[in-house]
Amino acid sequence: MKTTEEWINQLRRQLQRANYAYYLQDNPIMEDEVYDRLYRQLQALEEQYPELITPDSPTQRLGGGVAEGFDSVKHNIPLYSLENAFDLGELAQWVGRWQGQIGEQETVEYVCELKIDGNALALTYENGILVRGVTRGDGETGEDITQNVRTIRTIPLRLGLENPPARVEVRGEAFLPHKIFQKINQARADKGEARFANPRNATSGTLRQFDSKIVAKRQLDFFAYTLYIVDDNRELNPVTQAESLSLLEEMGFKVNPNRQVCQSLKEVGDFYQKWEQKRGQLPYDTDGVVVKINSYALQEKLGFTQKFPRWAIAIKFPAEEVPTKLKEIAVNVGRTGAVTPLAHLEPVSLAGTTVQKATLHNTDFIAQLGVKIGDTVVVRKAGDIIPEIVRVLPELRPKSAKPFTMPKECPECGSRLVRPEGEAATRCVNVSCPAILRGSLVHWASRDAMDINGLGEKMVESLVSNQLVKSVADLYDLTVEPLTQLERVGETLATALVNAIAQSKEQPWPRVLYGLGIRYVGKVNAEALADSFPAVEQLANASVKDLQAVEGIGEEIARSVYQWFRIEANQALVQQLQTAGLNFSQETLQETSSPDTSQEATGKPFEGKKFVLTGKLESFSRTEAQRLIEQAGGKVTASVSSKTDYLLVGDKGGSKQKKAESLNVPQINEAEFKEMLWGK
Ligand code: NAD
Repeated sequence: MKTTEEWINQLRRQLQRANYAYYLQDNPIMEDEVYDRLYRQLQALEEQYPELITPDSPTQRLGGGVAEGFDSVKHNIPLYSLENAFDLGELAQWVGRWQGQIGEQETVEYVCELKIDGNALALTYENGILVRGVTRGDGETGEDITQNVRTIRTIPLRLGLENPPARVEVRGEAFLPHKIFQKINQARADKGEARFANPRNATSGTLRQFDSKIVAKRQLDFFAYTLYIVDDNRELNPVTQAESLSLLEEMGFKVNPNRQVCQSLKEVGDFYQKWEQKRGQLPYDTDGVVVKINSYALQEKLGFTQKFPRWAIAIKFPAEEVPTKLKEIAVNVGRTGAVTPLAHLEPVSLAGTTVQKATLHNTDFIAQLGVKIGDTVVVRKAGDIIPEIVRVLPELRPKSAKPFTMPKECPECGSRLVRPEGEAATRCVNVSCPAILRGSLVHWASRDAMDINGLGEKMVESLVSNQLVKSVADLYDLTVEPLTQLERVGETLATALVNAIAQSKEQPWPRVLYGLGIRYVGKVNAEALADSFPAVEQLANASVKDLQAVEGIGEEIARSVYQWFRIEANQALVQQLQTAGLNFSQETLQETSSPDTSQEATGKPFEGKKFVLTGKLESFSRTEAQRLIEQAGGKVTASVSSKTDYLLVGDKGGSKQKKAESLNVPQINEAEFKEMLWGK
């Protein structure tokens, strides 16, 4: 219990600090997603141990506060927060919580609105005239910023109704569109002032300016989303949220057009998913979808908790950064012998997947992060890149946190690890280390190398641990019988594997060279080297200088190749593979290719043409583009030179474009490329 209580207190302190920085200083110390997850953790713990709840816990009060400097005023109607759901499953749970309270046969309609990431304002209109504008503050009391609110052009000073109700309360979100936010930040940077972290903080900072002339210049915008007709002499009587939104429009407010009345949760889910995809195209920030029960009668029936209305919820868009606990740091030995520390995390859902591991790269990276085992860390996953740890939350460090030390011995083979001078990586240099062997075999069998069907990670693991294979060359001595002794390998599978391995002997020299897994020799480099050195003997005897003369091969790669061939075990491997019948020269290929390589002779559109690729292509991956070029008789090299025929430029092409320009190498885009390949 002691540690739970300690943990709860740590979480509270961290959240209180975050609240202060966020609400009162407009300068957040953590991402919203990180805040939300920590808040959830605290909530869950308090649910489990209600005796530990204190009245000052961030879960017991609305987070905001009232800054000094403006008059603080009591809200006419309190401003509640919104309950959060992090996915559609939690949305369904929310429905489950209130469903019992309404009649079974009652059909529920929902209104979906975008959750605009700005600052809530409470506006009061008397006889159609704006008389008061107040920030949300702590929900009960806010700051009177009427002067500033009057400068927001999309907030009407007078309601656009002929005979307005005597008293109206309007709620909505003040926000800054991206373009204006960028301008403000640029101007601040030019004056040497600190930039705002995001548009929400810039909005909050602007609303609290004492000089309303500055506020006017900043061009805040406003979307209205709640209407209370307090004193209705006109009997406008909206009975649903959707009607209120239309009425707000009639009154002259801007209401976000991206809203929808939904008849089912499925429709709500579709709306959410659509905006999750499209939100990047909006000119302002939105961090989720607010789902509200449409009928006011039902809203009244459900009422409020201490903090939220029961009839509304915000489904947040998936986070790209979340906090979680680092449970352990293991080390992983790769095929090059590099020993990589790997963080084992408490599973956490992030951008649609569950994350349990993240790479920590090397000891320098760990030192830079200052991370210890037991820490709470922030994990990020951008796009489809493997997750990484971006930060530690030191306030949440438990007393029992332990620093990481790199083992002195390889966890796989027990030999002493080394850290070569000038390198960040620690390495196992034992050529017969099983981890290195496993990595080498997987690479050898991979699609761009020998492309051996059936030789994936699991099979490799099994071959190595049963000592059927002690080097890549041993693959070619495998027979069906011993394979059938392996777990879950029958005769059919064993025969197929032996055949697939035998077939790999047909693979050409560049693939064999790539398959050897020499450091820095990727597919393109292997092709360039195999081109310039059509036989392995020539490559093995080449000096660093000879190697560097090859297009695209720099000093680091040249040295790596040179050194690889100086190691006896590698020479032996080449010899064994040669004996096994693998292609270590171009001869066979050259014999079969036609002496006349012009396009007329072969009919291939790119015959003899050299391509370099840069930037991201839309219709295919780089590997696919390369395959297409090769099928059409062309070749892909790594860097632009005077011998390059075309530079194929995708999105965000880099320095290669400048080089191509200086050498007058024609540049083509994806559309032109397709046209050359397939015609119009
Ligand atoms: P909230 O921002 O999650 O939701 C309520 C707010 O949503 C309303 O007050 C309103 O301003 C806004 N909103 C936008 N569009 C709306 C719409 N169509 N209908 C109704 N409301 C709409 O809740 P909150 O209590 O204001 O703030 C808590 C949130 O603030 C946290 O979830 C967290 O993301 C963030 N926060 C972050 C930090 C940090 O350190 N990064 C600290 C404190 C709070």
